[in-house]
Amino acid sequence: MVKKLIFPPRCPFCGRVEKNSRPCEKCLKSAKELSDAVCPKCGSFPEFCKCTSRSFSFKRNVSAFAYEGGPRLALLRFKERNAPQLSEFMANRMYHHIVGRYKTSFDAITYVPQTRLKSLRRGYCPAEILAGQLADRLHLPLIQPLMRVGNRQQKYLSAAGRYKNAGRNYALCKNISLRGKVLLIDDLFTTGATLDACASLLKKAGASEVCTATFCIAVKKS
Ligand SMILES: [Zn+2]
Ligand SMILES: [Zn+2]
Repeated sequence: MVKKLIFPPRCPFCGRVEKNSRPCEKCLKSAKELSDAVCPKCGSFPEFCKCTSRSFSFKRNVSAFAYEGGPRLALLRFKERNAPQLSEFMANRMYHHIVGRYKTSFDAITYVPQTRLKSLRRGYCPAEILAGQLADRLHLPLIQPLMRVGNRQQKYLSAAGRYKNAGRNYALCKNISLRGKVLLIDDLFTTGATLDACASLLKKAGASEVCTATFCIAVKKS
């Protein structure tokens, strides 16, 4: 009873206190979950396909939800605060999509690193937390061959600018040599520029194939 008062059940998306830990009605209505009826390459709803004018270095992407409504709120809350229950919920939904839609196994799992300053400020790296939880569920070794070297944010750049900038923001750690299929994790797929830059580096290091998975994917033209 005491525990219930300290940790009341909440909607996993918006965090509102509820009778149980299921999504509240408003979030349930606004949560658009991706299915097999998406672009087979970028994993987006066909009308928001990100790969019509691009060729990505990763083979495929799988995302769990459209970046709006409840799932967007969950992602924003997760970036503000490392709530274990929230990351568990997000990793569970990602796991469901990875296993259901990638009919293949991987040799290792990794994530898109954030800047040192952000890690210091937040005290954690959201993509690393998700990748760690997925590594446990998928029984894969968690590796980190990538580092963030540039500091320029992607947020305010055009799609073309994002591609140019992303290539300068990441690098391989020293003496990295990879083999086999790598699953690359991030929290959000916007234009695919960051995942493309990171996948290209992983392949340069020797990965035979890179697939990606994110919790959300942007639902706007890019
Ligand atoms: Zn809610
Ligand atoms: Zn596409």
